[in-house]
Amino acid sequence: MPHTLLALHAHPDDEALLTSGTMARAAAAGHRVVLVVATDGALGLAATQFVADGALGTRRLAELHRSAKALGVARVEQLGYADSGLGPDLAPDPPGQTRLVRADTEQVAGQVAAILEAERVDVLLGYDAKGGYGHRDHVAIHHVARRAAELAGTPRLLEATIPRDAICRAIDLAAKVYRFPPEFDRGSFDRAFSARREITHRINVLRHIGAKRASMRAHASQASADAGADRTLSALLRIPRPLYDLVFGHEWYVDPSVSRPGGIRTDVFEGLA
Ligand SMILES: [Zn+2]
Repeated sequence: MPHTLLALHAHPDDEALLTSGTMARAAAAGHRVVLVVATDGALGLAATQFVADGALGTRRLAELHRSAKALGVARVEQLGYADSGLGPDLAPDPPGQTRLVRADTEQVAGQVAAILEAERVDVLLGYDAKGGYGHRDHVAIHHVARRAAELAGTPRLLEATIPRDAICRAIDLAAKVYRFPPEFDRGSFDRAFSARREITHRINVLRHIGAKRASMRAHASQASADAGADRTLSALLRIPRPLYDLVFGHEWYVDPSVSRPGGIRTDVFEGLA
């Protein structure tokens, strides 16, 4: 029986790294896949000129749609918030927009819940409690997803994550053959994401790795981006293929309704009516 999956993300490009394989796998199996992105992902110095003439938002939206197409996504929505950016300072709101961390969680969750209800979503993908590597917009999405699932009565919320031992091992291996860009913070991964024992779902996406790479490439094409994420994506795409498959051949989730995970699940729809 076909189900509906909704992947909620903070910025255009976040879907590529964490959940694109799961999305492609679900779409290929005949399920409906919806992608919702809270912000335009348009913060930073180089980006500011593009924001001023409106071109960056348009470009990033086009990239988001290209990524969505590669994954078989049926519907893409942007919630219209502004990127809160990294670093200690929070920039003032751009004209007519609110930075995601300044937005009222209840209001953002209400927007997401309306889509969850209209689409009769069975599985919502959010972020783990750390917000992955800790970007404040990702932490905000963690809270928004939990509240939205509650408001809409969504049967299953799965929080996208990576077992931190796996990512640290992969980065250390990659570092032997490849030099990461300066903004790539290896240390941040020691404290990020989730411990392996917390993980409830491990999804094999090896058969959909082509779609996943296409999704990453759709965003990595943005050469002018100031955002570290894009350069990190390009860097990850240059990891030698066998290692890339080892790292990105699976995607991981935490089901927050499971207090003591016993055994790992291998399908996000497993056990749904
Ligand atoms: Zn992000």
